[in-house]
Amino acid sequence: MENLERCRIPERILNDLYRQCQARLPYESCGALTGVRKAGELWVDGFRLLRNIAAEPQVSFRFEPSEWLAFCIQAQKNQREVVGLWHSHPRGPALPSAQDAEGWDGCGTYWIIGLEGDHREARVYSRRGAEWNPVPLVAV
Ligand SMILES: [Zn+2]
Repeated sequence: MENLERCRIPERILNDLYRQCQARLPYESCGALTGVRKAGELWVDGFRLLRNIAAEPQVSFRFEPSEWLAFCIQAQKNQREVVGLWHSHPRGPALPSAQDAEGWDGCGTYWIIGLEGDHREARVYSRRGAEWNPVPLVAV
């Protein structure tokens, strides 16, 4: 994704995302986000939780393929764009792991929800080659 200056997410959606992640501790949660791009900004308007079928869900994630496919088809039907993938790190921080680099196809944005005790944070990245580029996130 070229020239992405920042991402905006409504605070209630972000809080809902945190709640979903916390409800599934100690496992990683994962899913996708929909939204629109306007003039260098990404506006998130929703997210979907997808079942994590990783063999070791405490430390990794993998989308349940039929749920993921159904979500993509539904988004297309509703003329909504899938603009990012997200997953949580149950013991923080919100930094990409080596495994994350392997499991990502490189398009769109990559969101990590870091949970550490009472502390929670969301960070967004785009990627060019092997490099993770942080994208400023604004809750509105
Ligand atoms: Zn990760």
